[in-house]
Amino acid sequence: MRKPLIAGNWKLHNTVEQSCQLAQALVNDLSDVTETEIVIAPVFTALSEVGKICTESPVQLAAQNCHCMDDGAYTGEVSVPLLADVGCSHIIVGHSERRQYFGETDHFVNVKARAILKHGLTAIICVGETLEQRESGELFEVIAAQIRGALEEITAEQMAQVVLAYEPVWAIGTGKTATSEEAEEVHAYIRGLLHGSFGTDIASQCRILYGGSVKPGNISELMAEEDIDGALVGGASLKAEDFSAIVRFK
Ligand code: 13P
Repeated sequence: MRKPLIAGNWKLHNTVEQSCQLAQALVNDLSDVTETEIVIAPVFTALSEVGKICTESPVQLAAQNCHCMDDGAYTGEVSVPLLADVGCSHIIVGHSERRQYFGETDHFVNVKARAILKHGLTAIICVGETLEQRESGELFEVIAAQIRGALEEITAEQMAQVVLAYEPVWAIGTGKTATSEEAEEVHAYIRGLLHGSFGTDIASQCRILYGGSVKPGNISELMAEEDIDGALVGGASLKAEDFSAIVRFK
């Protein structure tokens, strides 16, 4: 019922030329895929060129971040309308690296998510606990606060354009994937929160991705879980062969 979504977060990697080569390889490899949604998120400087390569292919374009204002005196920022202008249909917000290194709060994530939805794009909103928070028994409290904070004032109607991503911080780039049971436990909890806030229909329609050391070797097991609807892939999305294998997880 929920269409799987596999997203590649290229983080701070690849020149424009390298990004175009990777995008072209994916467009070639994945041109026949219809049953899974595919999204790639290159660096800002490569979005425009990669967007041209992805036109009329199943590969959709995402930005890794955005600013909440449409325009004005905000030096160094990039707005949602400008990202839409270069072909972005999706924008990632609230990634743990942005929370950790750039001080992004739940409130700021929420303001950005609302800007994305206002312009009709899809927001991929990331949440996840640190190892310390998990070990001290705060896992569910942390996830609930992040989800509630990020979704404040977002309407049930807008939820059709929201994708959530659970990325435990301790599993990002460490090679340590959460077991499929550990991930499912949190995904089911998040779906329960959606149920409480928006009701059954929204809760059962919203896709919740898992992120953190996803590889061709562990994707099938993760996808077999009831509440895991896709993946947000970092390292393994930088190799066309690996990312294509993840997209074709079945
Ligand atoms: P890795 O797949 O490299 O662990 O990164 C996950 C991630 O942060 C995706 O947003």
